[in-house]
Amino acid sequence: MDEIQKLKDYIADLKAEIQNLKKDLIHDSLTSLKTRKFFEDRAKIYLSNIEKVGEGKRRDWFGFKNFSLLFIDIDYFKKINDEYGHDMGDVVLKTVAETISKDVRGGDTVARWGGEEILVLLLGANEEDAKEKADSIRKDVESVVFKDVSGLKVTVSIGVAEYQKGLSIDDLIKSADQALYKAKETGRNKVVVFSEI
Ligand code: GH3
Ligand code: MG
Ligand code: MG
Repeated sequence: MDEIQKLKDYIADLKAEIQNLKKDLIHDSLTSLKTRKFFEDRAKIYLSNIEKVGEGKRRDWFGFKNFSLLFIDIDYFKKINDEYGHDMGDVVLKTVAETISKDVRGGDTVARWGGEEILVLLLGANEEDAKEKADSIRKDVESVVFKDVSGLKVTVSIGVAEYQKGLSIDDLIKSADQALYKAKETGRNKVVVFSEI
């Protein structure tokens, strides 16, 4: 093989490696949900677009005037790991991730925020729409049947917050997290909206 061909092969390998790294930046390897980094980038885009609409610099943003955030956390997940083992815990996490993904529109962002915490960005959804969506996710997770483990019931608690003018993404996450905390505090397997706490 001549030197040029060797160099060409090397470049092809590098390109493939870059593609793989890009994929890892976008997708969480366990759940196939989007990563925290992807979520942050996407949320910034939503925010800057919506601010432009608010300032009148942009007349319309593909018809979207608002967005909402769901902060979802699996209830008693530690106990699930302890009782059924970490591998089964992983199966539960993946199943919850799939259930949520099926419930939202293709354009919405579902990301693994950390451990068993999942964030969902709902484009064009006001608080009421988001609450409705959260309720259907909550019910769908509750009714999942785990074939390998009879009697296993998994539930989630969800905090809902709608973007308000002047909020940063961190503020919005904090609001949804506070609503989630309230859902945990008041019994779990519940949806709580930030504006109602
Ligand atoms: P709560 O209802 O208050 O949310 O209780 P919890 O037990 O779900 O909450 P806690 O934060 O105490 O426990 C989270 C657990 O999630 C602890 C950690 O071991 C587990 N966990 C985090 N990431 C993974 C993962 O990738 N796979 C598995 N199997 N477990 C994980
Ligand atoms: Mg948690
Ligand atoms: Mg939990």
